[in-house]
Amino acid sequence: MTDAAAPTYDVIIIGGGPGGYNAAIRAGQLGLKVACVEMRQTLGGTCLNVGCMPSKALLHASELYEAANTEFAGIGIEVKPKLNLDQMHKAKDDSVTALTKGIEFLFKKNKVDWLKGRGRIAGKGKVEVEAADGSRAVHQTRNIIIATGSEPMPLPGVAFEDGKVIDSTGALFLPKVPKHLVVVGAGVIGLELGSVWRRLGAEVTVVEFLDKVGAGMDGEIATAFQRGLTKQGMTFRMGTKVTGAKSGKDGVELTLEPAAGGAAETLKADVVLVAIGRRPYTADLGLETVGIETDKRGFIANDHFKTGQDGVWVVGDVTHGPMLAHKAEEDAVAAVELIAGKAGHVDYDLVPSVIYTTPEVAWVGKTEEQLKAAGVAYKKGKFPFTANSRAKINHETEGLAKVLADEKTDKVLGVHIFGPQAGELIGEACIAMAFGASSEDIARTCHAHPTRSEAVRQAAMGVEGWTMQA
Ligand code: FAD
Ligand code: NAD
Repeated sequence: MTDAAAPTYDVIIIGGGPGGYNAAIRAGQLGLKVACVEMRQTLGGTCLNVGCMPSKALLHASELYEAANTEFAGIGIEVKPKLNLDQMHKAKDDSVTALTKGIEFLFKKNKVDWLKGRGRIAGKGKVEVEAADGSRAVHQTRNIIIATGSEPMPLPGVAFEDGKVIDSTGALFLPKVPKHLVVVGAGVIGLELGSVWRRLGAEVTVVEFLDKVGAGMDGEIATAFQRGLTKQGMTFRMGTKVTGAKSGKDGVELTLEPAAGGAAETLKADVVLVAIGRRPYTADLGLETVGIETDKRGFIANDHFKTGQDGVWVVGDVTHGPMLAHKAEEDAVAAVELIAGKAGHVDYDLVPSVIYTTPEVAWVGKTEEQLKAAGVAYKKGKFPFTANSRAKINHETEGLAKVLADEKTDKVLGVHIFGPQAGELIGEACIAMAFGASSEDIARTCHAHPTRSEAVRQAAMGVEGWTMQA
């Protein structure tokens, strides 16, 4: 083992995902001497390699495939689409490579050293890096940022099995379209990747423990969303848990039980996608060498990104808050700015969520259920996309926009959209809320016509009851 005395870094970041690479780049921009340890062959973490990016590539391609099959003829485009799954995977992989190379380029541009290998904290101010060839080096640093991310949560009693019982990564690389895909968990991954394979021809059944899809979304939106997915051909088994799996030559036989208890039944699948959440990843990280303990669920707690141990910081999925790439990025920038003596801050009430189905679902701020539980008096405006002219012209009229505002002050407390390009529309709600807007501020802001964003404005107008378009 070598003890590399020089150079001494200002910051070493362990993990090269959105938390890690954004921290590294920002540190480079601020003139700090910085290194990032990443054990994958490529930078970008879960998000770029096996998460956000490849899933969105398949969502985009499968959406076009389905549109070509079901919608093109109606608008006068006659085509007979034929699925070339190998090419679809190749296009996805090429996009991922371009993106991960882009981070490598940004590292060079911002003078970030990529220390290739597995990082381990080796005491205060020390990070040991074990390279793929087994060689080890210890690097000295003033600050360590832990950005080791998360991994899929296994389902008790249901072991992962290559090609049969898979996690999200397996679902991004299936070599053929399964006849019957059973998805366990009607959360973000289950509904996005379930949509991909349904569009490509699989029968998809989603088994969900709760009575509501979409892990945490507004109840009214969740009901409309589930209705939409059902119309598209997905089958839902709500209030149901999977208690066992038997894998054989012809696929997998799952045992299901009502969540509230009751008689068991079986369900056969070619492939089972387990998507019941992710858990923080801290394996062999040397936390004990600096006295850091994880909580019951495996997270490293933080106070303004400080772990409680001098010079050790934490950002992204491995610490509390939504497990989202843009949240990891916000954490990262704020943590590095604090290290550099600036004023880093993240408003977790304003982290948007998006589910990239067709139509999309997006929201920011509080749901109606949260406002009711907190005893907050609120007003609500709604607007259906059936009444939005751009949506009508584009034959994408499913869904609604909803604005929730404080009953007394009119301050916007939540915006929820189920509809075309909801993920893009939510940006204006984030900015409005970041500036403390009232629903009237949105309602009296001129929006271009015809655009889908008029639905958000009309929903804001609805808060005071003066919605106009129909
Ligand atoms: P990660 O991205 O997990 O990065 C951690 C990195 O650390 C990994 O590359 C890992 O190899 C490395 N590492 C871990 N331990 C060590 C070690 N000891 N030494 C060296 N390296 C180490 N979020 C969104 O916002 N939008 C989306 O559309 C979206 N889609 C997703 C789709 C899927 C299928 C999945 C699985 C996730 C998706 N997410 C999405 C979530 C998003 O990927 C994560 O929230 C985000 O990647 C978290 O960033 P992070 O930097 O905290 O961790
Ligand atoms: P999730 O938390 O979104 O959903 C998990 C679902 O599984 C929940 O509805 C839960 O009730 C259900 N569940 C839990 N245990 C169950 C059981 N035993 N049987 C049946 N259902 C069960 O988790 P996910 O979909 O695995 O996603 C993991 C993380 O990745 C999320 O935090 C998400 O934010 C992130 N992600 C984000 C995006 C995006 O932003 N578009 C896309 C993919 C993943």
